Amino acid sequence: MNHGISDRGYRVEKAGSCCSECGGAFGVGEAYMSVLKEGDEGLLTREDFCRRCWTGREDSCFSFWQTRRRSDGTERKPDEDDLLPFYRSLRGKEDRNALELKYVLSLYLARRKVLKLVDVGQDAGREVLVFEGPGKEERALIRDPGLSEDRIAELTETICSLFPGWT
Ligand SMILES: [Zn+2]
Repeated sequence: MNHGISDRGYRVEKAGSCCSECGGAFGVGEAYMSVLKEGDEGLLTREDFCRRCWTGREDSCFSFWQTRRRSDGTERKPDEDDLLPFYRSLRGKEDRNALELKYVLSLYLARRKVLKLVDVGQDAGREVLVFEGPGKEERALIRDPGLSEDRIAELTETICSLFPGWT
């Protein structure tokens, strides 16, 4: 697995263990903010900030969400609490990076039965998937961005890196 800069421009590092600003390790149960920043040519990097260092950073982010350190184990599987805030942070974002991430993440969350695929429509020759959940009112239309198998694998790897332990 490549943890450096991939040829499609995602840069991801070991995430979720300490604050990018002050270097303080997150304790078990501690809430912190995770941030994706978009650089040149769609380069995405993740940074995590403790609550103290987070103030005033919202404006420069591609997306951000609050999460919580659950345990010290590296074998845990990230549950809904980790992935849903990230999924929700992509809501309303229409740029290519966000649309592609949303598609791959939605399919994964549906496999985990966090989201439910309730309808499949068509729009301009592309499938439009309708997902519901986990809240009753939560509904999302996700257009198939027409990704290659390689691109799907790469995005899966990106999300694996954003959420260590994700499989
Ligand atoms: Zn900090």
